[in-house]
Amino acid sequence: MRVLKFGGSTLISAESIKNVKSIIESQNGKIAIIISAFDDTTDTLLHTAELASSQNEDYISQINNFKIYLSKITGELFSKSEIEPVNNKLKELFEELENILEGVFLLKLLPDKTKDKIVSFGEEIASLIIHEYFEDTILLDAKRLIKTDSSFGKANVDFNLTNRLIQEAFSDLDKTAIIPGFLASDEENETTTLGRGGSDYTASIVAAALDAELLEIWTNVDGFMTADPKIVEKAYPVKNLSYAEALELSHFGAKVLYTPTIQPVYKKGINILVKNAYNPEAEGTIISESPGNEEHNIKGVSSIDNIDLITIQGPGMAGVKGISGRLFSKLAVQNINIILITQASSEYSISFAIAPFDTEKAVKAIEEEFISEIAFKKEIKVNVEKDLSIVAIVGEKMRHTPGISANLFQ
Ligand code: ASP
Ligand code: MG
Repeated sequence: MRVLKFGGSTLISAESIKNVKSIIESQNGKIAIIISAFDDTTDTLLHTAELASSQNEDYISQINNFKIYLSKITGELFSKSEIEPVNNKLKELFEELENILEGVFLLKLLPDKTKDKIVSFGEEIASLIIHEYFEDTILLDAKRLIKTDSSFGKANVDFNLTNRLIQEAFSDLDKTAIIPGFLASDEENETTTLGRGGSDYTASIVAAALDAELLEIWTNVDGFMTADPKIVEKAYPVKNLSYAEALELSHFGAKVLYTPTIQPVYKKGINILVKNAYNPEAEGTIISESPGNEEHNIKGVSSIDNIDLITIQGPGMAGVKGISGRLFSKLAVQNINIILITQASSEYSISFAIAPFDTEKAVKAIEEEFISEIAFKKEIKVNVEKDLSIVAIVGEKMRHTPGISANLFQ
């Protein structure tokens, strides 16, 4: 069994869907297919929901445009006799979606739970169309397979239950399963999502539960690149990456893979193959236990823009135990995600990088936690630097090679 995931960028038009079909038809052996929402549907749905919640009636034309986009696709994929049942099913989904949006509009309320429900239509619709278009497939309900807590927007998977449900669903399946990515549900069967880009994660969860031979991520680039091709003209695809290298590269901005994807398959030793649906001849990138025999020690350069750096420093920190514990526990309680941490070996300062939308909350939390050190004793200061980027060079073999950072800084 192999699990193949097709991202939104590979499903943007009838033509690209036909292309994906031809890729599927050229496969041998048993496969399962994970489908993302077409193109930028998720963004469109989120935007539509925001419009509705601010009582802007433009949300209606957004939905209508989405319908027109889809009917162009279905009109090209299905013959006149085939299209009616497809349209009926789509109509049902749209009725539900429009009811929810109307509720959001009237109440001027858009809780995360409702947002998840609204964006879920992206994957529901895409997988329905693909299932209707591909012969001999069965459409599985991801919400019945993947169970999570109720952290809407980016829910945490209950792996024990999920693995069991997936294994049960596949135990007597004789057709190719199509599963919408990104979607799951909580204990109350409310729809949850796995975070933006989460279809990759769905594919990894399914692959791990089924002990698949391989997880294939089909996208619109030739694999992990040595750098962002939009910034570095000479970037080229990397053939081999270790799980750790792929994790680092995707964490530091390479958008090929949603970072949490690596964990489920890594634990099972299942390799990930990243392939370009528009250029299937290209080898792609293999992510496995081994970094491969590539001659370069640096596998890639990547970066995250739009970072704030917070530094807390002062004589109140050097040699005092428990400062970093207090700092990071406080930030964890506030649900603040930390991207990078450094501490001076003098222990005089600790710096950490976060996304700008968390900065205000972080500073407030720190001022609260260290009120005595900051406000009364004046031993600790908090400093915020904005508009920074993090540049990372990645490669497992770097650690045995001196001179690499000199090269980088040069
Ligand atoms: N459609 C979702 C998103 O755009 C999930 C995915 O594409 O992987 O975030
Ligand atoms: Mg997407």
